[in-house]
Amino acid sequence: MRCLRELEDNAAVECVLPELRKEKFYLISGRLGNGVSTTAKSAIKRFSCEDHDWRYQFVNYRDIPSLTISEKTILFVDGWFGLWNENPCEEEVVKQILESLRRQVENFQHCKVVLGLREDIYEKYKRIFRNILPVRSRLDLDVSRVRREEELEGHFQRAFESEHCKKRNCECKGLNFRRITHRYEDVGDHLIIDILAKNHQLISKYLECENLLETLVCHFDALHKKKRMLFECLMYIVIQGKYKQDDIVNEDVKDNFGFSITPGSFKKCKSLQKYTKDMKGTELVSVHGEDMVHDSETGYLVFRHVFLYLAAFHSLFRKYPKKTMKYCNINAILQIVRPEEILNEEGDTIKFCIKADNEAVKFFYKEVVKQTPGLEDAIKDHPLVKHAIGTEV
Ligand SMILES: [Zn+2]
Repeated sequence: MRCLRELEDNAAVECVLPELRKEKFYLISGRLGNGVSTTAKSAIKRFSCEDHDWRYQFVNYRDIPSLTISEKTILFVDGWFGLWNENPCEEEVVKQILESLRRQVENFQHCKVVLGLREDIYEKYKRIFRNILPVRSRLDLDVSRVRREEELEGHFQRAFESEHCKKRNCECKGLNFRRITHRYEDVGDHLIIDILAKNHQLISKYLECENLLETLVCHFDALHKKKRMLFECLMYIVIQGKYKQDDIVNEDVKDNFGFSITPGSFKKCKSLQKYTKDMKGTELVSVHGEDMVHDSETGYLVFRHVFLYLAAFHSLFRKYPKKTMKYCNINAILQIVRPEEILNEEGDTIKFCIKADNEAVKFFYKEVVKQTPGLEDAIKDHPLVKHAIGTEV
């Protein structure tokens, strides 16, 4: 086996390596799109290249209970509190899984765990992570910026050069590295560069509003007018969370949202590839780590990046707030939607949430929570449910 230095290898990976050699538990945090999992995975691969006896596994936190760990295993665990954003009702599950992780790792002399967490989720729950796991060191990718400045500029140059834009008067011509970084954003610079480099039509909107989420939400909004089939395919994936290749399109969803797509639309719509990727059922289990049994050989379409899903969800909600609350997969609702006014609760600092008005919150409670056996009990501590009950007269 050759140990090639990969492109992602950078100063952050160099920071992580010596810590990995010393510590059993290590935590990497950073804004969405700042390279938390890329950094962790590259460092882990390098680590196991140095010592071939070590094997590594990259897992979602919900896979921990079914995992068999052996001596000389190094794990990367992410997905804490949900695939797309943060579901506060998962706190107990997170605690139990951290406990089980600690016990399993303590059984072996040589076993290591790297946790990957989004910065705002880490801030909200750091006490839980610190109390349960003996994490002695952590890398915060948002503050270790200085050493990465040059790399980021290199990344910018490569990303825009590789696209060879032929469009005259395109906004990309006047763009320079400093115009799109060096300002505070909820998402990492890597993601901003990647998305703008692949979609030059977004550049002017981004420079105007300086907010990547807003830029993308407007882009999805515009697809409704300009490319209806693409819009419907994308929103169908938002609603269902994924699309099983060749599967029938749910009639309830079609009727209520007024969609006219068929399984053929997903094949016909070539530009869908810009936003989505194919995944095997087996890969999905670990990523979507949930209830459903997936057909392992079947292909599924999912969003290419969590952030694209979030932006598309915002666009869907903006257009159809009540319908989204009723027909969209419950995980996305619990992770992304919060009541507009939060009753008796200190400010939640989780990013990318949508504020739903009282009407939408009550509608969700009446039409979904009350109609699904066992659901109210399972999510009784969720702000949406607490709010709906609190505002009942
Ligand atoms: Zn261009």
